Parts: sequence; C-alpha cells; structure tokens
Amino acid sequence: MSQRLVIVGASAAGANAAHRALQLGFGGEIIVLAPESGAPYYKPALSKQYLSGFWDDERIRLSTIPWSDLNIRSESAVSLDTRSQVVGLSSGHELDYDYLVLATGSSGRKLPNMPPGHQVTDLKAVQALRNALTPEWDVVIIGGGLIGSELGSTIRAMGASATIVDMHQAPLEKALGPYGNQSAMELHHAKGVRLMLGETIVSADTAHGHVALELASGQEVQGNAIAYATGVTLATTWLSDSGLALEADGGVSVGEDLLVDGFSNIAAAGDIASVRYIHTPAGRRVEHWLNAVEQGRLAIDNLLADSPEERRPFRSVPLFWTELHGNLFHVVGDPSESTEWNVIEGTVASSKYVVTGRKNGHPIAYLLANSPARLAEYRLRLYEELDNNDAALP
Ligand SMILES: Cc1cc2nc3c(=O)[nH]c(=O)nc-3n(C[C@H](O)[C@H](O)[C@H](O)COP(=O)(O)OP(=O)(O)OC[C@H]3O[C@@H](n4cnc5c(N)ncnc54)[C@H](O)[C@@H]3O)c2cc1C
Repeated sequence: MSQRLVIVGASAAGANAAHRALQLGFGGEIIVLAPESGAPYYKPALSKQYLSGFWDDERIRLSTIPWSDLNIRSESAVSLDTRSQVVGLSSGHELDYDYLVLATGSSGRKLPNMPPGHQVTDLKAVQALRNALTPEWDVVIIGGGLIGSELGSTIRAMGASATIVDMHQAPLEKALGPYGNQSAMELHHAKGVRLMLGETIVSADTAHGHVALELASGQEVQGNAIAYATGVTLATTWLSDSGLALEADGGVSVGEDLLVDGFSNIAAAGDIASVRYIHTPAGRRVEHWLNAVEQGRLAIDNLLADSPEERRPFRSVPLFWTELHGNLFHVVGDPSESTEWNVIEGTVASSKYVVTGRKNGHPIAYLLANSPARLAEYRLRLYEELDNNDAALP
C-alpha cells in the first residue's frame, strides 16, 4: 500500500520539506496542509519589499516550489493522535499518516489590553497595511526589534511618518549587538523615525482613525494606526493534547536529527523546532528563514532515510539579515550570547564594517554591516571556529 507523508504548514520549512520529498522521488502520497491561500511566499519581504510595493503579489511567491505537483489542502490541523497516526483537521475530517512533518511556525504575538492594529506576520495583514497607508499617515510601531525597525524604515521610505515605541533602550542589541544597534538607531534618527525607547505603555486608545498612547514617562504618542512588531507566538497549541514534548514557549523538542523525541516518523522544522544539541541539551530554536529552509529539507532526508545510521545531525551556523534605510546588516551565529564585541574590519563611522561577538573568548557571531560580499567567508569561518571549539558548538 502507498505510504502517506503529511506536512503541516507550508512556509519556509513546510514548502521546502515538500519540495525535498519530491526531489527524493518519494513514491507515496504527499499532502500539505496550507491554510493560507495561494502558493507559499517569502516572508522576509513582508516588512521590506512587499510593504513598500516594490514587490507585487506574484514576485513574493516562492516560484521554485512546484506547488501544482503537490496535494494541497487549504485547512488547518487541529489535533494530533500519535497512537493511531491521525491528524485532526479544521473541517472535522481526519488524515492518517505514515510520516509527519510539523512546520506550523509562528504568528504575531498579541499584547494583552492593547487595541487592534496591524500584525505584519502574514501576507494578508501586510496587504491591508499597504493598501491603507498614505503619506499623511503617522504609524505607531510597537516594538523596535528587527521587524519593528524594518517597518519604520519602509514606512519612512514610503513617505509616511513612523514612531517606534519599545520598552528597551537598545531594542536591536540582542539581534545585532551593540555596534549594530547603535548604527540602526543613528539611521532611524537621520531618516526621521521617531524613537520612544525604554518606555512602557500605560494606556492605548484607537478611535475614528486616531491612535493615542500614554507612556509611563508621562509622554504621549499620537498617530493614525498601530502596527505591532512584538515578537511571535508559536503555532503549536494544536499539539497540546498530542503527548509530544512541548517546551514552555511551545517549541517542539527534537533531537539533532530533527525527529521528535520518541518518534522515528515525526519531524519538526523551522521556527517551532527546538533542537537539543549534544552541547546545549536545553534545546535551541532559531527564528530565521534560512534555518527553516535547511531544517525542512533535512527533516525529510532523515524521516525517509533507509536506516537510522543514514540520518544526519542538523549542523548549521544561523544566518539572518535585515535592511534598514538602504543599509544591509548580516548576522552569522548567535549574537544574543555574545559578551564581548570588537570591530575587526572597516569603521562604524563609514557604515561598512565587520564586528565579532565572543563568549568566553571564542568567536560565536559576526555582524557584517554593508559587507554582503564577505558573508560566505565569515559564515564558513565561524563554522570552522565553532567546530574547533566544542564548548561553543550550536
Ligand atoms: C515580517 C517578517 C520579516 C522577516 N524577516 C526576516 C529576515 O529578514 N531574515 C530572516 O532570516 N528571517 C526573517 N523572518 C523570519 C522568517 O520569516 C521565519 O523564521 C520563517 O518564516 C519561519 O518559517 P516556518 O516555515 O518555520 O514558519 P512560518 O513562516 O511561520 O510558516 C508556518 C506556516 O504554517 C501554517 N500553519 C500554522 N498553524 C497551522 C495549522 N494548525 N495547520 C496547518 N498549517 C498551519 C501557517 O499558515 C504558515 O503558513 C521574518 C518574519 C516576518 C514575519
């Protein structure tokens, strides 16, 4: 009898898992659960090229994924019974599986007691913001991390005004390190993004197209709309009764081979996968596009491997990028763990520089500002440095 592979979620991890299964010539049936309409799309462009209108609805789609060769069901998974190997669907139907990939990712985190606003984590929501935005608008962005900062940058480039409110004084320090944060804040200042940092919100009202925030410092912020960039919530509540090992934040605990603990026929990939490495038994989740792509592919290789010996561990140096006011920042490794930062190439004043982040004296991250041509070299260099330093290995 033909075997069935079910992939839940169809973004970076899920779509690439499906593509990989096709490439490997999986002879059974491949069913992808994809509740969002249309072919998968490139999420990193949402806050950049897509919001600005530079990319249209066609260009943002992942055109290399052979979507029409797959059996797509536009519905959500609502439950998982691992004993009978069945996924419950939002339609009330059930789907049995032989192999299962969990790739449900994340959606924008909702803050309690805050009025409705624009969540920018899916295509429809960004479409709505793009269609509504006029140059007369002043958008209040809650959260000044990577996505909030990109929103500020894009909205200014579209000719509208933007105000970022964040509880941290250095909202990008965790993601970009202190030099990257400093550069980003200077760029925001230079381009007219208003920054309200180290501020907590006491009250927020939206009525008749007008937003009014009261901050703990006593300052007030006015605008025409709110956009939320306050992090993400993992889409794993549907697994809560499944018996799978979920972490406190909803992450799905997997081994180095991305297989879910105790199951050789279930893998998890992308934002939700919390990988327990030999050196970091606590589990490590990465919320980056490339991580999800690479994990989606490896999840399939390992699920469909002929024998356990053929399974490979996920070994990759994290990589992400952000674009702010025309400046490109790439980060390899995990800057959030770095305790010591040094400029090793260029100068911060020239906007083109490379910084190394170290922990216990060992390099664990590099930030490259406006140096994309150096990216491959630094990623490889870090891979080798981590490989030679067991204590810092991901
Ligand atoms: C605005 C924005 C900008 C970003 N910019 C960058 C960037 O510049 N660089 C970078 O590296 N990363 C960036 N990221 C992060 C990156 O996009 C994510 O890490 C990546 O999309 C994770 O992929 P994923 O497949 O794990 O999950 P997701 O992309 O979150 O996709 C999960 C999919 O599963 C579906 N799903 C959810 N629940 C269910 C269910 N119960 N049943 C069936 N399907 C379900 C969802 O509809 C969704 O399509 C950005 C993210 C956003 C939102």
